[in-house]
Amino acid sequence: MLHPCLRCGACCATYRVAFHWLETDTAGGITPAALTEHLDPHRVAMHGTNAYEPRCKSLVGEVGVAAHCGVYAVRPSPCHELQPAWENGQPSPQCDKARIRHGMQPLTPADFL
Ligand code: SF4
Ligand code: SF4
Repeated sequence: MLHPCLRCGACCATYRVAFHWLETDTAGGITPAALTEHLDPHRVAMHGTNAYEPRCKSLVGEVGVAAHCGVYAVRPSPCHELQPAWENGQPSPQCDKARIRHGMQPLTPADFL
């Protein structure tokens, strides 16, 4: 089974991915600060996501066709927290909303069979 996220990427092109600057590598974290932009005194955002039409610059590929995170191992906490709907038996309104925004149906439990 090809994981549904690898044919999607919608969440990476829907939301502002904001997180505390302490997650960046310049502060001892793992997410490269070079991939972020300043947001406020406490937070940074992944480049490209603090925009009217967000799209993380670390997203590789085409949304809804073939897409993956280019910095998966060092992605920040919001990217860990957004779970694909039904992968672990739980709904994910953020996943659903992102997919609908990009013209896709929300995932169902059948997508993980
Ligand atoms: S919107 Fe859902 S299915 Fe699409 S990449 Fe994000 S978590 Fe995966
Ligand atoms: S860092 Fe990766 S998982 Fe997070 S928004 Fe960007 S492309 Fe998506």
